[in-house]
Amino acid sequence: MPKLVIHQEKVEDPQVLVDICPFGAMEEKDGKLSINAACKMCKLCVKKGPAGAVEYVEDEKKEEIDKSQWNGIAVYVDHVDGEIHPVTYELIGKARELASKINHPVYALFMGNNISDKAEELLHYGVDKVFVYDFPELARFKIESYTSVFEDFIKKHQPCAILTGATTVGRQLAPRVAARMKTGLTADCTILEMDENTDLSQIRPAFGGNIMAHILTPNNRPQMATVRYKVMNAPERTEETHGEIISCAIDKEKIKAHVDVLDIVKKEPEKFIESADVLVVAGRGIKKEEDLAMIRELAELLDGQVACTRPLAEAGWVEAKCQVGLSGRTVRPKLIITCGVSGAVQFAAGMDGAESLPGRRTGDLAMAGAPYAFFPAPDHGFRRAQRRRHLVHHERGEPRGHVHADP
Ligand SMILES: Cc1cc2nc3c(=O)[nH]c(=O)nc-3n(C[C@H](O)[C@H](O)[C@H](O)COP(=O)(O)OP(=O)(O)OC[C@H]3O[C@@H](n4cnc5c(N)ncnc54)[C@H](O)[C@@H]3O)c2cc1C
Ligand code: SF4
Repeated sequence: MPKLVIHQEKVEDPQVLVDICPFGAMEEKDGKLSINAACKMCKLCVKKGPAGAVEYVEDEKKEEIDKSQWNGIAVYVDHVDGEIHPVTYELIGKARELASKINHPVYALFMGNNISDKAEELLHYGVDKVFVYDFPELARFKIESYTSVFEDFIKKHQPCAILTGATTVGRQLAPRVAARMKTGLTADCTILEMDENTDLSQIRPAFGGNIMAHILTPNNRPQMATVRYKVMNAPERTEETHGEIISCAIDKEKIKAHVDVLDIVKKEPEKFIESADVLVVAGRGIKKEEDLAMIRELAELLDGQVACTRPLAEAGWVEAKCQVGLSGRTVRPKLIITCGVSGAVQFAAGMDGAESLPGRRTGDLAMAGAPYAFFPAPDHGFRRAQRRRHLVHHERGEPRGHVHADP
């Protein structure tokens, strides 16, 4: 970083410089000047102060890295006890696309215990090399051990870019690794593009979704990005595989951790809006908390789940984990019915991948509802459809299926 150097011997009256600084960053103590954290680097003190009293020193020129030494797009395999999180496959699909532009291989980094037999599955999605660190010490996610394995992998294989799912684990692990490797990390990317010179354009909404920031890491490698689940498309699974699985060794001292996992208490299985095929979204057009019963009923009739916009989550009417949007969850259902939602950009940012969007017909079915006109009819189409479905399934002796709502 550039810095300011005060040449105290050239300062006759410290107060002159204190008065010049519009941000109160120039301080005088016992006749000596210093610059505090409020400095905005506006350089007024350099330009308007006594000649040579404050010097602006440019950033030391960084040693240029040899980008050709960094090869491959790596994906961190997010899993619990070998059960691979689907965001991993989505990232492999994206890594494949990026790698093909620069003719690099796709790597998967898989760490855990008793996972070697699960590694083969990754090859069906187009991974060229799966690097497996399979050790009892890695049985449970421990930030110190996992960071050390990541570091070992990066130092030995020098991947040009690393993609990590923005899961609970990924959100902890990726920043640690980036700090350890002294490189950049962009969280929650929504678009990733590869330049010919192997610089990764990491694109994500910024300033409340009003602009799309294009972030580059041109002077460091690896380039690191996290991506939320359901933002990218997962590739089709292929029958044939061509890649290889590499069993990796690591010094056991390196994966020792200061934290021990003593017990694991499983939570009740929860339904997450990210995995719902049908969502009924309640917005501020819902006037009273009691009226959410209509939304819940419709969601139930459609075998779907209730979601909400931020005002309803903030009001405590719907749980925060059900909020769709920039500061909520990203969803990709087959059908979204929005009720009393204006479709603000921050809300829509969380459902760009949905097959059907209100106001933007991108799939088979889109419905933006005026809730109070749509719901109160005691015999509205969904109930009739559900009764018909039950009747049909009852006659055929079939289990319950999905209601098909006509647009
Ligand atoms: C940094 C940042 C992050 C944000 N993140 C999120 C986020 O993750 N998710 C999110 O949702 N928002 C987010 N927001 C807030 C966002 O900008 C909007 O304020 C919010 O999405 C609006 O929610 P809404 O559509 O429910 O309410 P409103 O914008 O108030 O819309 C209510 C809609 O209901 C309609 N309506 C009213 N009465 C009726 C009726 N009787 N019948 C039918 N329709 C009716 C109105 O015409 C209107 O279209 C964020 C904002 C910022 C600045
Ligand atoms: S660079 Fe600007 S903000 Fe910083 S000390 Fe000088 S005048 Fe103040």
